[in-house]
Amino acid sequence: MTNSIAIDGPAGAGKSTIAKMVSKKLGFIYVDTGAMYRAMALYLLREKVDPSDAAAISSKCQNADITIKHENGEQVVYLNGENVNGFIRTEEVGNMASSSSVNSNVRKKLVELQQKLAAETDVVMDGRDIGTVVLPDSKCKVYLTASSKVRADRRYKELIAKGQQCDLEKIEQDIIERDRRDMTRDISPLKKADDATEVDSSYMTIEEVADKIISLYESSKN
Ligand code: C5P
Repeated sequence: MTNSIAIDGPAGAGKSTIAKMVSKKLGFIYVDTGAMYRAMALYLLREKVDPSDAAAISSKCQNADITIKHENGEQVVYLNGENVNGFIRTEEVGNMASSSSVNSNVRKKLVELQQKLAAETDVVMDGRDIGTVVLPDSKCKVYLTASSKVRADRRYKELIAKGQQCDLEKIEQDIIERDRRDMTRDISPLKKADDATEVDSSYMTIEEVADKIISLYESSKN
């Protein structure tokens, strides 16, 4: 029996930063499921599939072989044998991922891969449906949130640090819109699992959130 920590929550709540830190401290593998949806989106973009063409997404997604490996402590996503880590963090891919992730064939394929990984090794897995669909039996489920204002502020600072021009209000509007899409879709909408603990990271440091999750994990084993 393997161990797992399932972390769900809206965009910008700090899931990946926290999940990476927790996995390092516990010696678990970190699985970033958003990166898999992004790799699938990259494939569909390269195939020039229209984001609104559900039938094309359903059939084309079958030709995308997505696997992940862990190299030097980092998750590397392979799309048909190619390392695509350098291509999946763009706005274009993020938008396509948000549209194509509503497709049931896409979800079925990636959920199977995620469940296989968690059956083989101890994982900290983050996404939108980990506690509800992917690992419903996980003993440690966390729903990580922060106010849209705090999340927008974090994103703004990240972009400014990278030297990119941006508008704080527009970022907050985008975050609210993406939350709405993720929470209202028919298949696997973002929602807190009944047995998940909600952690609001708005006024907590990264270390405080990581420590809180580790203590939740420790007490879930008793
Ligand atoms: O977390 P990240 O922004 O990388 O995820 C990209 C997109 O993939 C999200 O907008 C979300 O709609 C989708 N996703 C999902 N289920 C997951 C992880 C991500 O639908 N488990």
